[in-house]
Amino acid sequence: MAASLEDVPSESLMSEVLRRLRCSSKPDKRLILIGPPGSGKGTQSPIIKDEYCLCHLATGDMLRAAVAAKTPLGIKAKESMNNGELVSDDLVVGIIDEAMKKTSCQKGFILDGFPRTVVQAEKLDEMLQKQGAKIDKVLNFAIDDAILEERITGRWIHPSSGRSYHTKFQPPKVPGVDDVTGEPLIQRKDDTAEVLKSRLDAFHRQTEPVINYYSTKGVVASLHAEKPPKEVTSEVKNVLSS
Ligand code: ADP
Ligand code: AMP
Repeated sequence: MAASLEDVPSESLMSEVLRRLRCSSKPDKRLILIGPPGSGKGTQSPIIKDEYCLCHLATGDMLRAAVAAKTPLGIKAKESMNNGELVSDDLVVGIIDEAMKKTSCQKGFILDGFPRTVVQAEKLDEMLQKQGAKIDKVLNFAIDDAILEERITGRWIHPSSGRSYHTKFQPPKVPGVDDVTGEPLIQRKDDTAEVLKSRLDAFHRQTEPVINYYSTKGVVASLHAEKPPKEVTSEVKNVLSS
């Protein structure tokens, strides 16, 4: 349950009120980020989220939390995740349907890692149609597979926020420690060169067709995801301001 408002420090309350005031003038946006593992979706998401007042829904983060908490969903998802295979469409569609109802998604959302199959994309369209809404933009994080192994094997994450670091490309201020909370960082069990092969295979076979699905709707913008993070952010901002 949410903490009583009386217990929230005035500073936090004021900064949230100011944030909501700033956000009230922003247009609604419903975005999908598609790209192979390690292409930079999780790195760009918090920046886009803050700029446009959206919620960030990453199915991988939600599933990892379910696995850690040993919920029925987590128990069903664990094996596929460890093997670098996709979990069933019904499992992820259910969690996204629920998550999109959050107050923080009022101005729209960033879907990171969903939809990953054409069936998921069709189910998402059905959900949105019921609300009279649609996807505004699909950001395609285009990148060569050869770049991804170094990115994936050097990745460290802060599990509760989903923040990503990299030993070489985005090192934390203190090795192994989250810059914001000071909590320990971890390496994902599936972030190995071996499991990456299966994850890339799943991406090419099952997720690339989703890019074609949205291309026919004229909403896909491709980014040069091999560039340094700040340059990718500039490309994202250009696409979203047009
Ligand atoms: P994804 O969410 O698409 O799986 P991440 O955003 O977690 O990918 O990025 C994978 C790893 O690569 C992380 O360790 C991250 O710090 C690093 N990274 C992200 N974007 C870039 C970039 N443009 N250049 C170099 N390294 C990057
Ligand atoms: P990610 O954090 O996006 O790399 O996802 C990690 C793992 O979670 C994937 O390899 C899949 O096993 C599972 N997963 C995440 N999102 C989905 C999805 N939309 N559909 C199916 N499986 C997913």
